[in-house]
Amino acid sequence: MAERTDSDSRKLLRRLRDSLALPGQGQDRLNRITHLIADSMGSEVCSIYLFRDAETLELYASEGLKPESVHKTRLKLGEGLVGRVARAGKPLNTSDAPSQPGFRYMPETGEEAYSSFLGVPIQRVGEKLGVLVVQSKNARIYSEDEIDALEVVAMVLAEMAELGAFNGEGDTLANTHRHPVMFRGGTGQEGAAEGHVWLHEPRVVVTNPVADDPLTEIERIREAVGRLRVSVDDLLSAASLDKEQKQVLEAYRMFAHSRGWLKRMEEDISLGLSAEAAVQKEQSAARARMEQVPDAYLRDRLHDLDDLANRLLRILTGQGKDTGAEMPTDPVLVARNIGPAELLDYGRKLKGIVLEEGSVGSHAAIVARALAIPLVIHAERITAEALNGDPILVDGDQGIVHLRPEENVARAFRDKIAMQAQAQERYASLRNLPAQSKCGQVTALHMNAGLMADLPSLAHSGAEGVGLFRTELQFLIRNQMPKRGELARLYARVLDAAKGKAVTFRTLDIGSDKVLPYMKPQDEPNPAMGWRAIRVGLDKPGVLRMQLQALIRAHAGRDMAVMFPFIAEGSEFAIARESLERELERESGLGHPIPTGVKIGAMLETPALAFAPDRFFRGVDFISIGGNDLKQFFFAADRENERVRRRYDTLSVSFLTFIGKIVARCEATDTALSFCGEDAGRPVEALCFAAMGIRTLSMRPASIGPVKALLRRVDLTEVRAVIDEAMRTSDTVRPAVMSWLADHPD
Ligand code: PEP
Ligand code: MG
Repeated sequence: MAERTDSDSRKLLRRLRDSLALPGQGQDRLNRITHLIADSMGSEVCSIYLFRDAETLELYASEGLKPESVHKTRLKLGEGLVGRVARAGKPLNTSDAPSQPGFRYMPETGEEAYSSFLGVPIQRVGEKLGVLVVQSKNARIYSEDEIDALEVVAMVLAEMAELGAFNGEGDTLANTHRHPVMFRGGTGQEGAAEGHVWLHEPRVVVTNPVADDPLTEIERIREAVGRLRVSVDDLLSAASLDKEQKQVLEAYRMFAHSRGWLKRMEEDISLGLSAEAAVQKEQSAARARMEQVPDAYLRDRLHDLDDLANRLLRILTGQGKDTGAEMPTDPVLVARNIGPAELLDYGRKLKGIVLEEGSVGSHAAIVARALAIPLVIHAERITAEALNGDPILVDGDQGIVHLRPEENVARAFRDKIAMQAQAQERYASLRNLPAQSKCGQVTALHMNAGLMADLPSLAHSGAEGVGLFRTELQFLIRNQMPKRGELARLYARVLDAAKGKAVTFRTLDIGSDKVLPYMKPQDEPNPAMGWRAIRVGLDKPGVLRMQLQALIRAHAGRDMAVMFPFIAEGSEFAIARESLERELERESGLGHPIPTGVKIGAMLETPALAFAPDRFFRGVDFISIGGNDLKQFFFAADRENERVRRRYDTLSVSFLTFIGKIVARCEATDTALSFCGEDAGRPVEALCFAAMGIRTLSMRPASIGPVKALLRRVDLTEVRAVIDEAMRTSDTVRPAVMSWLADHPD
């Protein structure tokens, strides 16, 4: 019986392939397909429903239902039996459709005459494209083999769509990759860019979903799985793995060796699929399950399976990272996620970056920020939608991406880019002027950096120096702990490139979201409040000491400024300071040249530090407010959580009052104070900080121009008066400051 159905299924697939090979428009092909399937499966009805948009299914072709309902009948995702199949991503098989929960009577189709219903999703590697349905009058349950056969057909339809088999007039399946699509994500790095898609992991294109000779295909899949297993075993035997990494890889290996996986693929092949198509069918099923599994551990395992399927496809098709496609001259990188080292490999040639995952504080975001490349994160499903070479617009300010945009959208976008370029030109003319406000007060504007590649921005932006050099990037992008000599050379090169301008180095801030690939990950419930930054430095002094030695050596004969991150109480700073002083003594004892002058500071990133005893304030050479962390702890709002990170206003009376207190304590103890969080680069926020008495701000290089332009056109004492008045009457000073600015144009 099974044998008979297998060959039936193969026959159906061959007829399908032959039919697709005939000339014709997209709609003709769909009509032929529904006819052919209904005929082969002995059903009166066969219908193809496709997604018009993410939420709506439309009847695109039907054999058996009333022709006038084609392109008229529509269903929402989850609505009716067809909508249910689409939502669940799995087949629905019933002999009595009208009695099923959710059945929706659609009089225009005439389907009430049909009792049995079998619907299977049309999906490509988890991407939902539509639903394929067969119906018949007699009340019967379709057999397992029939379900398998229909699933295989649906799979082939999805593959053929990818290859453009349904291109033609009107809306057809292939339009999934033709329509303009907008993605609403989050901001990773501001800025706007226009370019063409470059997929980090290009989709493997299967050109032969149907195969004539199952035996050859089974041989191919066995051979490929064999090679896959060897490569995974090799991974596992790498000497450098620690116990946990080994455990993770063991699970991965288990899947690679799973008999069930291979068996399922062999069954798919026996139904008529090629080896590649069989892999993709199982991958689609795994992705559909992945969406529905709430358990994070199980989801990770399904993710493993997904990853293995990708590797297997690359082995089978010979399509590796290098698919032969040529990178466009204006590439916008599209990826699920990407590591910092890979991103650095692409470097500045990227015009923009769009990620499905990622977070504001992720390594990729840090690198994108350092390279000033507009980045949008959380652009869900973009890797499924985008094809290499598609035109794309990235709006990093709004967190919006337009894929294959309409011409009018592209035009408006270009206007925006041109306006930004004009503004940058205007700012360039201020490059060598001080940020002196009308009251005479000068605010020092510095830039934040983290890579050698940032240093040229010192000259371009007109920054006075580097107010924050984040040193963790050099640790994050390596596979092993950098050596002292290597770091010393790098820091010296940074200083050389700064050409005498001051650079304030921040010691390593790892932990939280920044996990070194070669350090054992800590499973902490709240990593941002966990074992991070100076806490790691004090508990594991070896790394901190090595870094301090490298910094001292790099500064031989030059002034040095170092600050410690995430200090929560004075004693932590005191210990860190002592350890730096000890290293200085040691170096000089060894006869090495030491820095000429040394300034040692603390980052104020926890509210607690603002209330430290005076002793602490007198014991630091300077304080830099790390506003990103300070704000998240002040408002108890995770800086990486899109839902809450913009919820509270930096210019709220409570936060500004707090800033005012810090300023007052620094003034009373004669302690230099700066602000180096992202808010320092937002002109209105920067203006308010300056009016509150912060004399040094450190920001992204691109923000120096806009901040300077605003500071130069105002009188800070007037702004302060506006703030003081608003503080008495409102919850936030923002509206008052904005309306004052509107009344006081250039
Ligand atoms: C901050 O917290 O404001 C800061 C500058 O440090 P980071 O963003 O690197 O945590
Ligand atoms: Mg911080």
